[in-house]
Amino acid sequence: MATSLLRVAPPEELLRPLAVPERLLLGPGPSNVPRRIQAAGGRQLLGHMHPEVLQVMDEIKAGIQYAFQTRNRLTLAISGTGHCAMEAALFNLLEQGDTVLVAINGIWGQRAAEIARRLGANVYELLKPPGKYFTLQDIEQGLVQHKPLVLFITHGESSSGVLQPLEGLGKLCHRHGCLLLVDAVASLGGAPIFMDQQEIDVLYSGSQKVLNAPPGSAPISFSERAREKLLRRKTKPPSFYLDMGLLANYWGCDGEPRSSRDLLCPLCPQGLESSWERHRANCTQLCQGLLDMGLQLFVEEEARLPTITTVKVPEGYNWKDITAFLMDNHDIEIAGGLGPTVGKVLRIGLMGCNSTSGNVERVLGALQDALKRCHRSRL
Ligand code: PMP
Repeated sequence: MATSLLRVAPPEELLRPLAVPERLLLGPGPSNVPRRIQAAGGRQLLGHMHPEVLQVMDEIKAGIQYAFQTRNRLTLAISGTGHCAMEAALFNLLEQGDTVLVAINGIWGQRAAEIARRLGANVYELLKPPGKYFTLQDIEQGLVQHKPLVLFITHGESSSGVLQPLEGLGKLCHRHGCLLLVDAVASLGGAPIFMDQQEIDVLYSGSQKVLNAPPGSAPISFSERAREKLLRRKTKPPSFYLDMGLLANYWGCDGEPRSSRDLLCPLCPQGLESSWERHRANCTQLCQGLLDMGLQLFVEEEARLPTITTVKVPEGYNWKDITAFLMDNHDIEIAGGLGPTVGKVLRIGLMGCNSTSGNVERVLGALQDALKRCHRSRL
């Protein structure tokens, strides 16, 4: 008998069936995936050029156009997470030496600046403390001073819980010959955004937040102005996979079109406006409950992101004890801070089907329990 050439045995763990616990995901994402979307992901694959798939691609595009409120023809879903869409936007918009202004009031601006630097762009940062938002005056100063070709700003700053007002921003950018690039990964579907009316040039989001799908599908859209900038490029984008020119031709060849299509379905019968209203109402109920418990919110009321609420870590407690307690005793995930808010806040996400009054009561009850039972530090 021939001796086997294999020196690595098949792992025992992979021979056992997968076990997945039931958990309520009230962190900053991923959120829970409802049955309809789970079922869509479990369907049999079709060939990427089959007519049914081409039809599904058109339906996904129409769904994104509705969610973004845009008629842009360069609208598609990228196979990747929010970071991938962020890179797709920056890789395609910027060339070496292009000037970009990045509004930073949390980690997402920091990351965009980092990506743009790696591209060899000329990066200027416009800074605000985490928890604060940018006014039109702040932005105009930056535009006048640095004369950028692109402004990056985050609509829903999930590291701090801030909702950035966008009204008037597109017009302002265009008056200064600048394109407006907006990250709506943590806000799309939970807070109003109107790509065409607000003159946003590039907008992207992700699937595992309000859309309640698994991560790995990121809607993105480019305005005509942005498309013209892509056509005027002197060099090819540094990524082949994320080359918007190629994606525009080949789009849909991701092997997972059905789950992309179904994640946009819940927004349609329910309507965007009622989704925004539900997220706002449940966020208000949560904030009130937190205040009633004597806790302090991190962001002032006018700038609160309806999908992710940041609450200051109560004095004397270790945030890790609280998140671990909720997970171990209540099967609920909430998160600590991220980037500049690490150690300062707890983040509670109420996104898509997770944004319900019942879940607000559940997480408030669990937090109350945690505050009673987690030891205050002796520091
Ligand atoms: N931008 C924002 C505002 C986000 O909240 C996130 C995810 N937390 C991302 C980008 C990155 O998305 P992903 O984790 O899907 O790569």
